Amino acid sequence: MTIDFELTELQQTLRDAVIKICARFDDDYWLQRDRDGGFPHDFYRALASDGWLGICIPQAYGGSGLGITDAAIMMEAISASGAGLSGASAVHMNIFGLNPVVVYGSEEQKRRMLPPIVAGAEKACFAVTEPNAGLETGKLQTRAERHGDRYVITGAKIWISTAQVADKMLILVRTTPREAVRKSTDGLSLFYTALDRRFVEVCEIEKMGRKAVDSNQLFIDGLEVPIDDRIGEEGRGFHYILHGMNPERILIAAEAVGLGRAALRRATAYAKERVVFDRPIGQNQAIQHPLAECWMELEAANLMVFKAAQQYDNDVPCGPSANAAKYLAAEAGFKACQTAIMTHGGYGYAKEYHVERYLREIMITRIAPVSPQLILCFIAEKVLGLPKSY
Ligand SMILES: Cc1cc2nc3c(=O)[nH]c(=O)nc-3n(C[C@H](O)[C@H](O)[C@H](O)COP(=O)(O)OP(=O)(O)OC[C@H]3O[C@@H](n4cnc5c(N)ncnc54)[C@H](O)[C@@H]3O)c2cc1C
Repeated sequence: MTIDFELTELQQTLRDAVIKICARFDDDYWLQRDRDGGFPHDFYRALASDGWLGICIPQAYGGSGLGITDAAIMMEAISASGAGLSGASAVHMNIFGLNPVVVYGSEEQKRRMLPPIVAGAEKACFAVTEPNAGLETGKLQTRAERHGDRYVITGAKIWISTAQVADKMLILVRTTPREAVRKSTDGLSLFYTALDRRFVEVCEIEKMGRKAVDSNQLFIDGLEVPIDDRIGEEGRGFHYILHGMNPERILIAAEAVGLGRAALRRATAYAKERVVFDRPIGQNQAIQHPLAECWMELEAANLMVFKAAQQYDNDVPCGPSANAAKYLAAEAGFKACQTAIMTHGGYGYAKEYHVERYLREIMITRIAPVSPQLILCFIAEKVLGLPKSY
């Protein structure tokens, strides 16, 4: 097998086109969004109008039908433009979030649900995490009870991003009580349905960074969901979600590499121009070496991102690579953002140099959708064959 490390002509064109759109939204645009909050609608529309939101959605439903490798190139480019997680998270859900509908939805559901997401006419959020479950998805307590041709959902979700602006939500809830199923992850069902604010109270969480893209607590009280909005079979929701977990890790990893590169670019430029003790600070090895390390670690993480993406696109099992990519990219991105601040000295702490925003945003890639500890547990168990520790 030959390994080609270069982008194909199509991928290079794709990357250039995304970079061109992102150039219209510079760091000052994102700084403003970070100060004031509010969803970056104009950025979202710019990507939607050029058809980028459907990059992974099959052509039959209005998308481009490309793979995760192409989507990773796109998300890296968005993040690396300086848009960081503010930009990437604004469109992240459109890119791959509806994959369970693509894979497990009926033909009627695909025709109804996918085109509005591709066109940017509808926004969706992804509601899994719950206050009392955390990373232990089998402990989800939000319930959907069947009443004839409808379900009624009651419960609470937390951290749900873009719920302030979303029209729809992809939600995982319990349809069979925990006591009545063998495995805790059985008895969960997946719905893609309207976020009807008469029955869902959406409370924004004040958070450390990425103010442009909200994250929320949802209090759901008697939300009626037609049976037609259930994706796949009742009770199999967790298995459907699992299918999309690896691509999601790959995309988050690509976003982390992108933001790390943005930080490195700013730090390097500053190191060349800032003169102290009559020499550019970048002439000192103590400044150069950490930057060189960041470059190497970002490159290595990026290789793992593309290994995982290629495996996924070629139907090769990619769990270890996808998890490793997400871990390595988040850590490399974090180190690059932190190093960028230190390279800037005091100015790194000032908002107008942007790198402090990068540091606050890169933290998300470390925490979500799965923590570094849980990735290490996964590698220890599934790759090294050590006993399950949790
Ligand atoms: C900005 C942001 C946006 C998000 N957006 C969404 C969203 O759109 N939709 C959604 O559903 N969720 C979202 N999340 C939630 C995110 O996926 C969770 O925060 C993440 O999965 C971790 O869950 P938790 O916060 O409940 O941590 P917990 O499960 O409470 O874990 C806390 C800590 O304990 C560690 N830990 C727990 N068990 C073990 C163990 N056995 N061994 C070692 N360490 C352990 C964890 O690694 C972690 O460090 C978002 C989170 C953030 C911060």
